[in-house]
Amino acid sequence: MIVVMSQEASREQVEAVLRKIEEFGLQTHPIYGVQKTVIGVIGDDKTKVVETMAGYPGVEQIIPILKPYKFASRETHPQDTVIGVSGVEIGGDRVVVMAGPCAVESREQILNSARLVKMAGGSILRGGAYKPRTSPYSFQGLGEEGLCFLAEAREETGLPVVTELTDPRKIDLMCEYADIIQVGARNMQNFVLLTEIGRSGHPVLLKRGPSSKIEDLLLAAEYIIKEGNRNIILCERGISTFETHTRNTLDLSAVAALKRLSHLPVVVDPSHSVGVASIIPAMTLAAVAAGADGLLIEIHPNPNAALCDGPQSLDFETFTGLMSRIRKVAQAIGREA
Ligand code: PEP
Ligand code: MN
Repeated sequence: MIVVMSQEASREQVEAVLRKIEEFGLQTHPIYGVQKTVIGVIGDDKTKVVETMAGYPGVEQIIPILKPYKFASRETHPQDTVIGVSGVEIGGDRVVVMAGPCAVESREQILNSARLVKMAGGSILRGGAYKPRTSPYSFQGLGEEGLCFLAEAREETGLPVVTELTDPRKIDLMCEYADIIQVGARNMQNFVLLTEIGRSGHPVLLKRGPSSKIEDLLLAAEYIIKEGNRNIILCERGISTFETHTRNTLDLSAVAALKRLSHLPVVVDPSHSVGVASIIPAMTLAAVAAGADGLLIEIHPNPNAALCDGPQSLDFETFTGLMSRIRKVAQAIGREA
């Protein structure tokens, strides 16, 4: 970190700033220029400098050198993190396909979906048992019963399960049923939830909030990782823009940006990104081409009858066809799927 003193700063002010920084247990390296003095600050935790010294007499600017998301950053962990989930590796050479319905609606619906995901070559089953719905009158999910159906589908097909946790009080229940805990876009900045998941050490799929910057997503990941949990999969799922043709706008540049800034795996959810089934296949293939480590795709045995997100759910035939195209694009860029 560099503290830039203003041109008018007196010698006494520079010395007071040096003393204050050293009181925080940090090292100072002042460079006395003709016009200005700048102070290099070295040490592990520089948050106190940022918090207390921005308005200090004589201080003009504080410039961080390292990223504020210390443990999620590639600066501190240059090699890619590969997360192992019940035999499936996320963040390695293989593009991992996670698919299933938006919500678990019945035993039959999730079992049929799981069989199809398995048959088509998907690796992980998705399905929400607790649904964060905009309206309190919409279907809220089957709750624990839904988790039991997911467990049955997992048992039969061997597919690990990703499902959303909306309430930090249910963390133990979730750890029992979910191979990967999903943090939904609406909860990306639910810091109590993030901290609990961090403490659990359980693999987590962290979705980007619809109005969150890339840096906000990485700082949310930092809440989890700082508790000692490195098993974080970042997920781009579309952001709010002025465009209304699609549900959200898929920010594919976020994939490349996140892969550059962080060592954590990045997956794309084309379903919530665009919200329109006919546009999803194209965006899915684009996500693979852009370097996504995985995909989260909503499918349904009968999209027209879905209790949640039917218009963006792919039917089984479309999904099966899409899987073979995903493989071709993955191969074209030197990966597998
Ligand atoms: C979901 O995956 O079903 C979901 C609710 O997604 P998001 O949090 O991205 O809206
Ligand atoms: Mn959904």
